[in-house]
Amino acid sequence: MQSLLFQAEKNGVSFSPFTEIKSVEFNLGSFKVSSILNHDNSLEDYKFECNQFVNCAGIDAQQLSSHIKGVSKEHIPRLYLCKGDYFTYSGPSPFEHLIYPIPEANHMGLGIHSTVDIGGQTRFGPDATYVEELNYNIDASKGQRIFQAIQKYFPGIDNSKLHPAYAGIRPKIAGPGEPAADFQIHGADIHGVSGLVQLFGIEPSRINIQPRHW
Ligand SMILES: Cc1cc2nc3c(=O)[nH]c(=O)nc-3n(C[C@H](O)[C@H](O)[C@H](O)COP(=O)(O)OP(=O)(O)OC[C@H]3O[C@@H](n4cnc5c(N)ncnc54)[C@H](O)[C@@H]3O)c2cc1C
Repeated sequence: MQSLLFQAEKNGVSFSPFTEIKSVEFNLGSFKVSSILNHDNSLEDYKFECNQFVNCAGIDAQQLSSHIKGVSKEHIPRLYLCKGDYFTYSGPSPFEHLIYPIPEANHMGLGIHSTVDIGGQTRFGPDATYVEELNYNIDASKGQRIFQAIQKYFPGIDNSKLHPAYAGIRPKIAGPGEPAADFQIHGADIHGVSGLVQLFGIEPSRINIQPRHW
């Protein structure tokens, strides 16, 4: 990452971490951006102008979009939060490869798969549950359901080695019961603001399986 940052800065990029964009106004062909810089908990207003503005704020993209003057509400897709919990598996990894189960029809995620983190720890997950708020607490009671899902491809799993680990929340643009939706990239052809690009629903690609008949 340091090397990427070095290359970017060498080519004219200014990297501004700990900076929250508060509002954006499009006027006479340029974006007037108001932000707050957080230097060791001391907050400072920072305003700048640019000709192109990309809203790639992930789960906050809809919120940021609502603070871009000129973007009408009808062009901001509704955000649905879909939480995924991970469980770690203690001890040496039982696998030499990543394991992905065969996706189920219109499943909200990729299924409870097995990966290895950079410390070599095996982890299983994430599951997919729609939630109403950003709460990253792990629901330990899911353990049994996760265990049963893993058992389908790892019959020898030892339940006592499964431990709640961490969670993430996907910014979905399809709600519960709706068919899976792809991500959306909005340019001026959609919202009418020249130079503005907005990314919504960026999450792992999902497979929307249709029944096939051979
Ligand atoms: C449970 C779970 C499992 C996943 N598994 C996988 C996987 O196996 N493989 C895979 O490829 N992907 C996976 N993903 C998806 C992956 O994490 C996302 O696709 C990716 O992080 C999206 O990148 P992004 O840059 O669009 O958004 P983010 O990584 O969310 O980055 C958005 C950034 O914008 C910043 N921001 C927000 N608002 C503002 C503001 N107002 N001003 C300034 N900055 C702001 C945020 O602080 C953040 O740094 C998973 C996601 C989840 C939740």
